Amino acid sequence: MSDRQTIIIVGAGQAGAQLAASLRQEGYVGDVVLYGDEPGLPYQRPPLSKTYMKEGNPDRLLLRGESFFEDNDIELHSGTKIASIDRPAKKVVLENGSRRRYDHLVLATGATNRTLPIPGIDLDGVLELRTLAHAEDIRGRIAEARQVAIIGGGFIGLEFAAMARGLGAEVAVFEMGDRVMARAVAPETSAYFEDFHRSIGVDLHLQTGVSEIIDAGDGKVGGLILSDGRRVEADLVLVAAGVVASDGLGREAGLPVENGIIVDDVLQTADPSISAIGDCAAFTHPLGEGRMRIESVQNATDQARTVAARLAKGHSDDGHPPYSGFPWFWSDQADRKLQIAGLTAGADERVVRHNERGGFLVHCFRDGRYIGLETVNAPGDHLMARRLLAAGIELDRATLEEADFDLKSFKDRLK
Ligand SMILES: Cc1cc2nc3c(=O)[nH]c(=O)nc-3n(C[C@H](O)[C@H](O)[C@H](O)COP(=O)(O)OP(=O)(O)OC[C@H]3O[C@@H](n4cnc5c(N)ncnc54)[C@H](O)[C@@H]3O)c2cc1C
Repeated sequence: MSDRQTIIIVGAGQAGAQLAASLRQEGYVGDVVLYGDEPGLPYQRPPLSKTYMKEGNPDRLLLRGESFFEDNDIELHSGTKIASIDRPAKKVVLENGSRRRYDHLVLATGATNRTLPIPGIDLDGVLELRTLAHAEDIRGRIAEARQVAIIGGGFIGLEFAAMARGLGAEVAVFEMGDRVMARAVAPETSAYFEDFHRSIGVDLHLQTGVSEIIDAGDGKVGGLILSDGRRVEADLVLVAAGVVASDGLGREAGLPVENGIIVDDVLQTADPSISAIGDCAAFTHPLGEGRMRIESVQNATDQARTVAARLAKGHSDDGHPPYSGFPWFWSDQADRKLQIAGLTAGADERVVRHNERGGFLVHCFRDGRYIGLETVNAPGDHLMARRLLAAGIELDRATLEEADFDLKSFKDRLK
């Protein structure tokens, strides 16, 4: 019997594909087996709500070409769902009943879109956006759509709104909360984007839920009934009401799960032979408050690299450094590039500035400490804030409020 080690990765998305690549870069010589339930090669999701709708070129989404997996001896099984985990036997069980043994298992199962328990949700023309298949479906319909309704004013709803306006559709967004992107950004950034979307002709409704989706009479969507009883017309509805962690595999295998698969500071679950990374993992970040999940490319990529380094060195060894990837995020909405450096959601104090290049900046503090920066069309300031924060250099409110303040002047402090 071979004593070659096997690492199995479930989920061939951003985190899973990165982990497979990083294991090889770290010099891991055992078997790397990557299972993904979507067809085709691993791809990146961010362009799906941005450039893909216009370009329609799936090859540009690919994270790595086919030869990469062959050349690096990564066994990629696309279109293959893992049905369960047999922890005592250290095996994953495929839907067809076959089983494969692992020495270490990494769950990188991502997230799925939240559905809404309202009448009409299954009508033809009520769509969601998470996968390439969803995006292809939408692309096939968007050119014909006259009135697009979007349920949810988060990142994906707003990116889609800007894109659909760019294609000439009438677009309405219905957001239950009193501001857009409320979970993720400061009120000032929400207000900036509310004004922007209205300026490009998006009909934005805040504090407005949707209680029913109306059948046009032929099984196709015809409109919406809003929480205040009003009816609006729509021939394409995008449900963009957030996501839930795909943590079912972990839960059914008896791992602790609470809004994601719970992992410790080195991203290991309660079972030392199983780790979890990316959108599905619930962890404590040194810069955050309490356990959280982070849905971002940065988080998926950095967590994959951290786990690869640990597993390549022999995962049973102690003393691995805790995960501390510095969080950053972006969202493109028409010609506005929102960038976030740090975990700004818990800010209790903010300073709004504009730079001389027309960029918009919201500096965020919590308990008197600088915790991050939200910017619009200010990539240089975003990068500078990332570097300062990652280096532990504190900014104070008085300095930020000086009339001629420019983040670039902090460059020297980084040397
Ligand atoms: C439309 C869209 C736009 C986005 N834009 C941005 C952006 O601008 N910036 C940003 O930072 N982030 C963005 N994100 C978020 C980012 O794409 C995710 O955070 C990232 O993909 C998470 O990576 P992951 O590997 O954890 O999950 P995923 O990329 O979702 O991959 C998980 C994979 O696991 C598969 N899987 C699940 N269960 C099983 C199973 N039992 N067996 C086999 N396979 C399974 C899933 O089908 C999926 O393919 C966007 C996401 C979407 C959907």
